[in-house]
Amino acid sequence: MSDLAQCLAELDTEAAGASIHAFATAAFPICRSITGDGVRATLDLVRGIVPIDVYEIASGTEVFDWQIPPEWNVRDAWIRDPSGARVVDFRAHNLHLLGYSVPVHDRLRLEALRPHLYSLPEQPDVIPYRTSYYRERWGFCLPHRMLQGLGDGPYEVCVDSRLEAGHLTYGELVLPGASEETILISAHICHPSLANDNLSGVGVAAHLARHLAGCARRYTYRFLFIPGTIGSIAWLAGHRQEAAAIHAGLVAANLGDGGSFHYQRSRRGDSEVDRAVARVLEDAGLPFAIQDFVPFGYDERQFNSPGFALDVGLLSRTPWGRYREYHTSGDNLDFIRPEHLGISLGRYLEVIQLLETNRRYRNRQPFCEPQLGKRGLYRTVGGQQGGRERELDLLWVLNQSDGSKSLLDIAERAGRPFKAVRTAADALLAADLLEACDGAQSP
Ligand code: ZN
Repeated sequence: MSDLAQCLAELDTEAAGASIHAFATAAFPICRSITGDGVRATLDLVRGIVPIDVYEIASGTEVFDWQIPPEWNVRDAWIRDPSGARVVDFRAHNLHLLGYSVPVHDRLRLEALRPHLYSLPEQPDVIPYRTSYYRERWGFCLPHRMLQGLGDGPYEVCVDSRLEAGHLTYGELVLPGASEETILISAHICHPSLANDNLSGVGVAAHLARHLAGCARRYTYRFLFIPGTIGSIAWLAGHRQEAAAIHAGLVAANLGDGGSFHYQRSRRGDSEVDRAVARVLEDAGLPFAIQDFVPFGYDERQFNSPGFALDVGLLSRTPWGRYREYHTSGDNLDFIRPEHLGISLGRYLEVIQLLETNRRYRNRQPFCEPQLGKRGLYRTVGGQQGGRERELDLLWVLNQSDGSKSLLDIAERAGRPFKAVRTAADALLAADLLEACDGAQSP
């Protein structure tokens, strides 16, 4: 197995981005929800990238304060106008159907149908995404312009869905490391034909797993492909012990748009993963934003609930709800680009590489500075700027390495890229001037 630095150096972000986009293209037409055959079909596609295990939990199972809902599957759904034409057709776009719609077959005038129709007046040409998981309803979503064009009817309405005892399905992959301490990567798989939210997250997570599977690992990695909210609640309810081993985690979402990276910290706010992501984004030299934890959003809400208090952040590009296409038919395969997906995968790998190599060392020559020149670590010709920076990195690592400071602490203190500090530490290790003292198991 190659080490992670090698693995990252060998990453072809262009090819990886194309592969993630190809996955999204294959998965896009599938009608997903929090349960049902769409989730199974999507997990089958993930299995084509990396060998995940698929688990099912029966409807009605109690998970903390919640219950696994009935399984939802749809054969067809439509609204026919008086001429018999399908004016709204689930088969044309699965966003047309309100998620978890109960079955109905009826004939209605527009006035009676109207409360069951959802549109976005401020974006009249797109179909909005709406669901009703926990309250029995049926409904259709359509472009506002189409809604305005509807005559009085009567309309024949049909939702050919089944809501019955079945299962909640999720995917999981564990990549064991030298330590049982675990890094969690979680992506939700419950959205129908929406690309950035969240096929981009599923695709990046699956490709990240594929890359890490071929690398030597200090940490254990656990990947979850779960329906939003109920999936993480169900997983946590059944895995108290495994959850206790989670050292850090990231929720992967909204990773294919062209926006700059955005990170939402864990509830703790200054955990290692929070600082690692901040460092990686800063070192990338591009605009980014960081915000504190908010108990609203994706599954980080459950992982950060006070009973678990896991250090799980949310690393995305433009966050949910802050782009025009969010939760509409505008969030399609053209909205996510292979180049953005590939770079997102690279950022995730950089965060993981930082966590893997963030060690604490002790300076073995702590009484005054060791002489670097005689060990070939000091430039012999003055005036090269790059050389000066390299020397300063060596001096920072030597000065701060009293066993209490990690390389990330040193990079933050010195205001230097983590990679530069890591390179300096490697040179000092090779010269026998440092020794590891954190007890961390090497891969
Ligand atoms: Zn969403």
